[in-house]
Amino acid sequence: MRPATAVIDLAALRHNLGRVRALAPHARVFAVVKADGYGHGAARLLPALGDADALAVACIEEALALRAAGATQPVLLLEGVFEADELALCAEHGFEIAVRDEAGLRLLEAARLPRPLKTWLKLDTGMHRLGIDPRHTRAFVERLRACPAVADELGVMSHLASADDPAHAQTAQQLASFEAATTGLPVRRALSNSAGVLAWPAAHHDWVRPGIMLYGCSPMLGQTGPDAGLKPVMTFSTGLIQVKTVARGETIGYSGTFTCPADMRVGIAAVGYADGYPRHAPTGTPVLVNGRPSRTLGRVSMDMLCVDLTDHPEAQLGDRVTLWGEGLPAERIAEAAGTIAYEILCNLAGRVHKRVI
Ligand code: PLP
Repeated sequence: MRPATAVIDLAALRHNLGRVRALAPHARVFAVVKADGYGHGAARLLPALGDADALAVACIEEALALRAAGATQPVLLLEGVFEADELALCAEHGFEIAVRDEAGLRLLEAARLPRPLKTWLKLDTGMHRLGIDPRHTRAFVERLRACPAVADELGVMSHLASADDPAHAQTAQQLASFEAATTGLPVRRALSNSAGVLAWPAAHHDWVRPGIMLYGCSPMLGQTGPDAGLKPVMTFSTGLIQVKTVARGETIGYSGTFTCPADMRVGIAAVGYADGYPRHAPTGTPVLVNGRPSRTLGRVSMDMLCVDLTDHPEAQLGDRVTLWGEGLPAERIAEAAGTIAYEILCNLAGRVHKRVI
């Protein structure tokens, strides 16, 4: 079997959920498992998420897949629905929905459902993505309350745009806007993503919606998951499938972007961008060879990348190369490749073997 394997550590996930509970002890928790559980495979995470009060995904396709995999908790559709037909399916499966605009409210007003839906009104408090103008909150809440398709337990939510940066003024502004729009309304409130959970206790409210921190990564600028007391859930590794010496002055990989400054021992690792390893990771991106630090050399290929074995004279065919996870935070690979850990995790490809521990 090709050695590229992602080990999914459910004990780490339980630990990270415990961190959410410890940081936001008074809030209930939506475990955000959209994008197939940030690339981990949402279904395989379920055994470790029994303690989450509810799950959250982007859309109905993801929610149905969770139900088919045996999820019994409430499931929130963060983007809401796109067509009227989805509402009946939501009622059938007990999904909660977000309402993001007038059109969404009208769909609900026109709907005749066998049972009412738990509904979250989405406010745009400054990110200017989804949601209504917070000044219209009260009017929307009144119309939702009058709607037979909407359950009594109504929620109001918004999303933080810059909470990963403790110095950014936008979070305090969004928080103030959310408070002004919702204080005194008989609704449950939800504002915090992982950054809100980690750094903004005033934004915890009734429910929190952590995603990335459940997977062991920190969204906070300059911080890794372990810095925040989190454990990586995914450890992605592969094996060396060839080891060779490349002569001084020779180049490595496509376009010859790396020239050997001396005769070098080089290992070829069975992983490439078709496995989800970022193609833009430059020479020098950290890897671990047999658990010790090394680096990539040259361009990442579709199925392979090259690693520097100069300081690994012991390395031989079949030895382990860790791409990220235990001992090597995904945030470091993201930083090298000019992206974020979210994308690194979400991009893990289907052909990579997955092993749950
Ligand atoms: N809530 C909403 C509405 C989101 O879109 C997301 C993810 O983008 C989250 C919560 C979870 O965010 P994070 O992974 O940063 O915790």
